[in-house]
Amino acid sequence: MHDGMNLIVDSEKEVQAVFQKIDDTAFFYSKKVLDAFHKYHVSESHFMSTTGYGYNDIGREVIESIFAEVLHGEDALVRSQFISGSHALTVTLFALLRPGDTMLSITGKPYDTLDEVIGIRENKSSLKSFGIQYEQIDLIQDEFDYEKIKEVLFSKKIKLIEIQRSKGYSTRKSITLDKIEKVIKAIREIDKEVIIMIDNCYCEFVEKTSPLEVGADVIVGSLIKNLGGGIAPNGAYIVGKKELIELAADRLTVPGEGKEVGPTLGINKQILQGLYMAPSVVANSLKVAVLASKILENLGYKVEPKYNEKRADIVQNIEFNSAEKLIKFTQGIQAASAVDSFATPLPWDMPGYEDQVIMASGSFTQGSSIEISCDGPIRPPYIAYLQGSLTYEYGKLAIIEAIKKLEE
Ligand SMILES: *Cc1c(COP(=O)(O)O)cnc(C)c1O
Repeated sequence: MHDGMNLIVDSEKEVQAVFQKIDDTAFFYSKKVLDAFHKYHVSESHFMSTTGYGYNDIGREVIESIFAEVLHGEDALVRSQFISGSHALTVTLFALLRPGDTMLSITGKPYDTLDEVIGIRENKSSLKSFGIQYEQIDLIQDEFDYEKIKEVLFSKKIKLIEIQRSKGYSTRKSITLDKIEKVIKAIREIDKEVIIMIDNCYCEFVEKTSPLEVGADVIVGSLIKNLGGGIAPNGAYIVGKKELIELAADRLTVPGEGKEVGPTLGINKQILQGLYMAPSVVANSLKVAVLASKILENLGYKVEPKYNEKRADIVQNIEFNSAEKLIKFTQGIQAASAVDSFATPLPWDMPGYEDQVIMASGSFTQGSSIEISCDGPIRPPYIAYLQGSLTYEYGKLAIIEAIKKLEE
């Protein structure tokens, strides 16, 4: 066996310039978050809780103002009544689409958990079952298919365009904001009205711009990922145009009650503290991704993105081309986790996913992938999707352990 520790030390030296850029972004967002806390006079009274209907929850209102401010939206819905990101995406789609409408994805097939929501896979409660059509345009070599997009927009009325930034369980690259900006410009030249919705999961605080600054109408993400900072116990957000947030709120709660209801049951402090920590936690996750990319590339594996490539999200792909290696690596990450380190993850049939999935998630919050975590569907080319880490040090320890397992 080669000298594992030397490999880590050498790789760490090579990535320092990349780390500096990550620190710069973390500083940028720390200022943004802190400014928003100051603007809305966050105080201890906002940590108080409501029960029942949740009327007049001043903490909830401040949280939503702060999320809107930081992400450049007119309004926000930030709720623990959203189970997670998938639920918020579902609520957004059901809120904005009506029977006879067509939704168009221009980043290929959306995230696996949306298959049954849209009706790509049969479900009696899908959008399709309500008479909502779905069309999809695949990316071509990781670029938007401008020809097809124009063709579709000229040929028919599209109600909503979905753009998924992070790669999900695909082999494509995640989509950086310069590409989003360019495609939105092209869309707007043809259609000023179509709602542009962004699945922003895993992408928050990675680049210095919010999709809402470059013309998106509404963005959606999970609080057990980036913006929860590892502290929010669950939930998700929808941020964007005021009238769209109102529709989403009426869909989540009760038409006519919308944002006015929703008890917070004691979690306001955790949501605020999670957002406060998020710039630093996202930076740590990015550093772990960069280090993993460098080390595994040095070990001869194909990685995406490469350590010094521009990143759109916190996810690091490692292509193992072997089910056994993917499983071993994932088990190594689990062995270095804080919780359930003694458990051995095995491939299983996860609800909402088509292939068997292996998942290392020894996290404080169930399923949290802003904590160090690793997963992948058991299908060629057997890619591990590594993400998260609340601190750089714990992430580094996890990589060391995973490599050890890999080489056993
Ligand atoms: C994680 C993820 C989701 C779903 O989020 P959950 O919080 O796990 O439900 C949706 N889209 C993308 C691109 C994701 O990465």
